[in-house]
Amino acid sequence: MYKIIDGKLVSQSVKDDVKAQTLKLKEQGIDVTLAVIIVGDDPASRVYVNNKKKACEYVGFKSLEYALPSDTTQQQLMDLVNELNNREDVNGILCQLPLPKHLDEKEIIEAISPLKDVDAFHAVNVGKIMIGDYDFLPCTPAGVMEMLSYYDIDVTGKNCVVIGRSNIVGKPMAMLLLHKNGTVTITHSRTVDLKNVTNKADVLVAAIGKAKFVTADMVKDDAVVIDVGMNRDQNGKLCGDVDFENVAPKCSYITPVPGGVGPMTIAVLMKNTLKACKLQNNLK
Ligand code: NAP
Repeated sequence: MYKIIDGKLVSQSVKDDVKAQTLKLKEQGIDVTLAVIIVGDDPASRVYVNNKKKACEYVGFKSLEYALPSDTTQQQLMDLVNELNNREDVNGILCQLPLPKHLDEKEIIEAISPLKDVDAFHAVNVGKIMIGDYDFLPCTPAGVMEMLSYYDIDVTGKNCVVIGRSNIVGKPMAMLLLHKNGTVTITHSRTVDLKNVTNKADVLVAAIGKAKFVTADMVKDDAVVIDVGMNRDQNGKLCGDVDFENVAPKCSYITPVPGGVGPMTIAVLMKNTLKACKLQNNLK
């Protein structure tokens, strides 16, 4: 019988730990502050930003929201980022992606100070993750690692297959599994005979963005399956990249969607923001 990896449970424990540490900082007169920038009126982005604000409230952070109109210029956005970089009371800066098409995301990401880059998207932080010596965790992949650790799933020596090679999920996911001594294979849309590769996975991470893409015939018996995907099925219902109903019975552990990786991403964001505040105050 498979076991469900409960992202709500694990994220709650991460947030409670952050909350306790935030309280200690408050007692020393230090506030933790996250600035969130949202440009335009994308409904999905609005939901993500609201969830981040709620999490900030829960752990005791101050959150500052900058909701800019969709016709904001690159210069206006750069000016805001620079202002926030220079503000001593702001510990973390997050710019909700995607930005409207006319804006240059890459330039904005690189403009955020690496010391306040709590999404860990800046090239400096990405490089540090690669080296394995980093302050800010890549939020979604680190959330996956938290879940594995909570359930005592050791990836040492295991065949770990990641489907997807994006900069925010697939690549850093592979790095974190590698740092924990997994034998890691990264696959993507050009991989030949994907099924043959995934069938050898002891740990399979799906980060594709295609509803129910991973089917039972792609999964080895007793595999640990982590579903990062967040998609809508034909009925508009939230679903992952894994065909949960048919894959789950083959697994030892599996994450559901919703209630799996999703809540972990925000929990790790809180962890990173706390870390930023501590670093900026020369605290461990
Ligand atoms: P992305 O940038 O679109 O990357 C998707 C990856 O999947 C690409 O590397 C692509 O390969 C690969 N892929 C596409 N079709 C494939 C196929 N037929 N066979 C094998 N690989 C294939 O997406 P992302 O940002 O990594 O996000 C992936 C999913 O995770 C999405 O559903 C997203 O909503 C979700 N997500 C969830 C969270 C969370 O908090 N739970 C956070 C971030 C993302 P190529 O590189 O060759 O094109």
